[in-house]
Amino acid sequence: ARIRVAVNGFGTIGKRVAEAISKQPDMELAGVVKTKPDYVAKYAVSSGIPLYAPSDRLDAFREKGIPVEGSLEDLLEKVDVVVDATPGGVGKEYKHVYERFGVKAIFQGGEKPEVAEVSFNTFCNYEEALGKKSVRVVSCNTTGLLRSICALSKIAKIKKVRATIVRRASDPKEVKRGPVNAIVPNPAKLPSHHAVDVKTVLPSLDIATTAVVVPTTLMHVHIVFAELEEEVTRDDVVSALEQTPRILLADAGLGLASTADLVEYARDLGRKRYDIPELVVWLDSVAVLGGREVIWMQAVHQESIVVPENIDAIRAVMEAAKSAEETIRITDRTLGLMS
Ligand code: NAD
Repeated sequence: ARIRVAVNGFGTIGKRVAEAISKQPDMELAGVVKTKPDYVAKYAVSSGIPLYAPSDRLDAFREKGIPVEGSLEDLLEKVDVVVDATPGGVGKEYKHVYERFGVKAIFQGGEKPEVAEVSFNTFCNYEEALGKKSVRVVSCNTTGLLRSICALSKIAKIKKVRATIVRRASDPKEVKRGPVNAIVPNPAKLPSHHAVDVKTVLPSLDIATTAVVVPTTLMHVHIVFAELEEEVTRDDVVSALEQTPRILLADAGLGLASTADLVEYARDLGRKRYDIPELVVWLDSVAVLGGREVIWMQAVHQESIVVPENIDAIRAVMEAAKSAEETIRITDRTLGLMS
């Protein structure tokens, strides 16, 4: 039988994860939950996605003439797993509801790590999530860092990582966030929380991060330094990245020289919502100094990078794929990811 999945919260992450679920041969999207009867709710209905709402919101949908199938509780009765994609910090409020219905839960990076039994990235700790009741897919920046760090750790033991995160100010749909004309240390007091978040998945890694927010909406960029225990060549690093699924090497010489170029390429490819769930590493930026110091720059499409990991997390909690390789194969083929 296919895994029946609900998505609570149909915003930036929820709508993408819901559509990704409906493309999986072993999953069925039972429905999504929205709180507001708005154009996004209309979009869900017109796309044939069964729409549900919290019980105290059902009347609001009916007043706007938007058909709903029932309440959140009605939906939870029907599913094996719920993907919680409510705003950061809201997921923990639903934890006991999911537990009451005996439904496994996938939470997002905006929640505190304690919300779930394990914080997760497919490339670093897939097996740890097998059969768990709850899993937290770490944030977009942390997912990006973990993909390349775990790819690099296949060729040499990592002594330490230092990274600077250049963060986008807002997602394209957000109207109230900034800055519009400043570069803001985020936070000014070091270190940034990204290193702490990486350590929820790789507890023994020596990592420190700094971050600034800049006025852009398209993607984040990371500048990463890693010190290795063993000597490697630049070719070793490039081939490790090349061989890792969900990592693309961008050639600045071909004009893929900025986040704007990457997004334009995604638009030319006809990718829905110009999504780039792959981590993009600039090939030209990869450098090895003295054999043990590796430097690279990478770009993270914040709205979509966690989508494949959410799909893998569903398979992990249901033990529907025994290894990372197995789930990656299915997820990446069905989502049309490049590698
Ligand atoms: P969002 O605001 O775009 O979407 C949240 C959705 O939840 C909306 O549909 C909203 O109407 C709904 N909602 C609000 N309150 C609710 C409630 N009480 N009950 C049920 N639904 C409610 O948020 P998002 O950007 O999709 O973020 C969701 C989670 O994903 C957060 O934990 C966030 O940190 C994480 N995340 C976001 C990004 C990103 O760049 N946007 C990237 C990675 C992870």
